Order: sequence, then structure tokens, then C-alpha cells
Amino acid sequence: MIWVLLLASGVRALGPTDQAKVQRLVQAYPAFLKGVEDDQLVWRDGTRMPLTRAKAASYTALLNQPGLLDQLDATYPSCAPVRPPSRNEDPGRVRFEPLFKKMYGASPSQVMSSLVSVNWFGQALKVTSVNGAAQSLERVAQELARQPALLAFVRPSAGTFLWRKVAGTPRLSVHAFGAAIDLNVSRSHYWQWAGYREGQAGITYRNRFPLALVQVFERHGWIWGGRWYHYDTMHFEYRPELTGAAGCR
Ligand SMILES: [Zn+2]
Repeated sequence: MIWVLLLASGVRALGPTDQAKVQRLVQAYPAFLKGVEDDQLVWRDGTRMPLTRAKAASYTALLNQPGLLDQLDATYPSCAPVRPPSRNEDPGRVRFEPLFKKMYGASPSQVMSSLVSVNWFGQALKVTSVNGAAQSLERVAQELARQPALLAFVRPSAGTFLWRKVAGTPRLSVHAFGAAIDLNVSRSHYWQWAGYREGQAGITYRNRFPLALVQVFERHGWIWGGRWYHYDTMHFEYRPELTGAAGCR
């Protein structure tokens, strides 16, 4: 009877798998998100966002215009051994931009109003305080300081906040929200530096970052660009909905 009413009203209930994915998102961002009702994400301020998947014609189209459920489909291998990802395996790279703009700010001035300074081995970095991202990065720094062998990779940082698009795309980088950090460029590899272009197959994976370093970030809610087919090994971004509470325990 209930489903008849749902159909009659045009409301579609999510299946249990999708419900679980949305719950993980809600638990990761409790200051903003309240829950799921029917096929909508409900914010604490009453905003509702449709939980849909895009009918994208290509991987690039999906990246450029995903639905919120497309973002939640990612499975991030928190703390797992490093291995070359398969083609277009980029967990976390599909991002539903309205979600991030609403939490962190939709303009440079809005984002900047929440930036605080994080002491990164003597370097003052601007990071958003929203969702506890800056506090989390401070805990990462404290843990890294106890492992001197890793410090050559983490300093100097190549930057945190910068209102910019992902190179060669219409998509805002997580750096624009002040929730990403780039580590030491001289130890890093980036797929575009090797001459590859979006949509290309056969990208050869390269990385020098040790797993122990990656795991410190992942334990604190930061995902690593070195787990992407389109690898960016200096890049970490605060995405606690993907690392999960238990992933690295
Ligand atoms: Zn980056």
C-alpha cells in the first residue's frame, strides 16, 4: 500500500544500499546534515538536495556533472597497501559540487571567512575550520612529527587554500574550499606532468610516497590522490565520508 502511495505522489524511496551510503555522508558531516527522507538529503537548515545519479555519456561528463549518489558510489581503500589503480578508478574524484559549496562556501570570500592558520612544520597554512578540517590537519602534523623519516615528503607544503578549478576542467578543486593540502612537489608525481590527457587509457602509475605517511592522513579523514588512476601523489583532501571511522583501525 505504501509503495502505491509513493508512486502516486511521485516520490521514490531509496534502496537499502543507497540509504547506507547516505547515512555515511550524514555521519561524516553532522554539523550540516540531518538525514535522508524519501530520495532527498535533508540538511539541518531544512535544505533538501535530490539523491540522484547522472545519466552521463562519458567518464568526463560524470566528473563534470555528477548526481549526489554518483559521489557516494565511491569505495575508498582506506589504509590498504598501495597499488596501481585500474582505469578510471579515482575514489573521491567524483564530487557533487553544491554539497561542498554549501558547507565550505560558494565564493572566495565565503571560504576565506572560515580559514584558520595551521602550523605545518614551521609553515603557516590556511585551512578551513569547517567540519574540523584544520584541527584534523594539526593532528596529522603531530603524528607525522613522530616519524622523522617521513618529513622529507611532507615539507615544504606546496599549498592549501587556492580558489581555482582542477587543471583543464570546469570543476572546482577541493583546494578552493580550503580542505586540501599538497605536500613536497619534488617527491611527487602527477598524471598530467607525464603528458597524459583526460580520457586517455594506459596511464602508467608512479608514486614514491610511503604507505605509512598515507595512513596517517587516512586515519584522520584525509583521502590521497595517489589512490587515483589520475594520480596526484602530493594531494590530500579532507573527506571523512570516504575514509570511514573504522577503515584504518
Ligand atoms: Zn592538490
